[in-house]
Amino acid sequence: MTAVNDRPEVRTPEQGGVPLTTEPRAPRGERGVADRSAPAFGPETDPLDVIRWALEAHPDVVMPSAFNLNGVVLLDLAVRAGYRGEVVFVDTGYHFPETLQTRDRLAERYPELSFVTLNAGAHPEDGQTPSDLYASDPDACCAVRKVAPLQSHLRQKAPSALLNARSREQATTRADIPFVETGVRVKVNPLAHWTREQLEAYATQNDLPVNPLYWDGFLSVGCWTCTRAVRPGEDARAGRWAGKGKTECGLWAGNNAL
Ligand code: SF4
Repeated sequence: MTAVNDRPEVRTPEQGGVPLTTEPRAPRGERGVADRSAPAFGPETDPLDVIRWALEAHPDVVMPSAFNLNGVVLLDLAVRAGYRGEVVFVDTGYHFPETLQTRDRLAERYPELSFVTLNAGAHPEDGQTPSDLYASDPDACCAVRKVAPLQSHLRQKAPSALLNARSREQATTRADIPFVETGVRVKVNPLAHWTREQLEAYATQNDLPVNPLYWDGFLSVGCWTCTRAVRPGEDARAGRWAGKGKTECGLWAGNNAL
């Protein structure tokens, strides 16, 4: 497992960096644009076929992950399909211990993959952001602690595509994500059409190391400061930034999306 401690310098907007501002800068729930050059996958397409296509069309594809249920299922499917690349995780300094333990269990289970932790050892008082920024301006906090490290890593690696675990059922803002999206990089979303029931069944059948918080109602686990358990009837991501008018961290939607 690789830990990358070199924190990227936070650049000013003039230097092409992410602006720190109290104004929302990312359109909420921005829809991805389907890649018309990709095969015509349908809702019933096996995610394995989508991953196999991605590996062939984009051999340099990279998988960022926060090790949620979707991410763990995607990781297992990707290995079955032949993926042997990086699994990139950003340590914001605010992760639950259970999330870090899930990462470690996965790294043990899949030695054929290269687990990379960016900002390894980050902590709330490390000076990357004011200690209460997550409360006063979560967009800015995510931009510095989450998006910037990953953007920096991807600038160095320059993959043509990313494997991503989002699914339509997770949130209304994800209700129409396609299997393959265009953008700065191609985003391949093999689980786009899988339901929570399918994901749970796959994880259970294959004895995957799911974050234990999931079974306590944390259907989507982010930083402990910005995550609560989901209540009956809410969608899987309702516990993320609840009450803050924010639905995405900025990795997959908005002006600074990967
Ligand atoms: S989820 Fe919260 S604590 Fe984590 S980077 Fe975003 S705003 Fe900061």
